[in-house]
Amino acid sequence: MQDKNDQEELDALIICPKCHTLSKRVPLSEGERAVCKGCGATLYREDSLMLHKGLALSLSGLIFFALANLFPLLSLRLLGKEESIGIPQTAYILFENGFYFVSTFVFMLIFLFPLALFLAQTLLFFLMLKRRAKAIVHFTLVWLSLSHPWNMADIFFISILVALVKLVGYAQVHLGIAFFSLLLFVAIDLYLTYTMPPMQLWELYEKRFGAQQ
Ligand SMILES: [Zn+2]
Repeated sequence: MQDKNDQEELDALIICPKCHTLSKRVPLSEGERAVCKGCGATLYREDSLMLHKGLALSLSGLIFFALANLFPLLSLRLLGKEESIGIPQTAYILFENGFYFVSTFVFMLIFLFPLALFLAQTLLFFLMLKRRAKAIVHFTLVWLSLSHPWNMADIFFISILVALVKLVGYAQVHLGIAFFSLLLFVAIDLYLTYTMPPMQLWELYEKRFGAQQ
């Protein structure tokens, strides 16, 4: 009995991800957010449409990601031949030139990881909305929480910008569909990372599945 009470007391506390101050959970009204008394960081928010927004945004993210990868990002005129290069080819060109380790890393960082992340988020929001497959939702959440610090979409985008600026002298940069899709993809990713960090998602998980066995 004592254990159960201890557990409940622990459940009523929430730890700040920034300064690790403990706060007591308080019920919020729609649109409100709880902030840390130590540093003012957002702890959780109350937004009844959060799952709908999350699903819509992760689906849009997937579409922009597909567009960013399907269309060329730049074209090079080499020996009178024009070559268009998209994001996936970047890793391939590195591989062809013998940079096996770097190409694998680049492929994971700029393709596999963002894709897996958005697929996982889409699945997560969908299943939470439907209140289905608690075990899968739990597994996905653990994975998202572990991979959260590895989400480097913003760094990736800045690197691409730097590379493009350097290439302007040699190649023609397409500021077309791929570029703007990439821009929107990174914007959505940053928005989701900022407004729905893992702690907020666990909060939603508790709310959707809390009483369910
Ligand atoms: Zn804090």
